[in-house]
Amino acid sequence: MPRAAKPKAEPVRIRLKRNDLVEVITGKEQGKTGKILKVLREKNQVLVEKVNMIKCHTRPSPTSGQGGIIEKEAPLKVSKVMLICPKCATATRFRLTATAEGKKSRVCLKCKELIDG
Ligand SMILES: [Zn+2]
Repeated sequence: MPRAAKPKAEPVRIRLKRNDLVEVITGKEQGKTGKILKVLREKNQVLVEKVNMIKCHTRPSPTSGQGGIIEKEAPLKVSKVMLICPKCATATRFRLTATAEGKKSRVCLKCKELIDG
């Protein structure tokens, strides 16, 4: 029986970027906060610093001599994290707006402050 092609992840517009502070809002890592290390747009995932750590067993490399069990971040679904507003210091919803200079910026819906400054 021929296998159906794997449905590609629906590309969503990710409005988060590297170095954003986010909070995990669901799942076993719920409540944890961290900085975004990487946005994986094609997978709708983000890597968040010290969140969703997984143990990796690696072979010692002849160059660095390092090996054994290392811990690293596993990607999280973008829908599981929420941006933290630097002004209200809570996970918040935001919308995009154009600044006076014509640049796109994100605005916190709670305090109406520009998140990107
Ligand atoms: Zn705010």
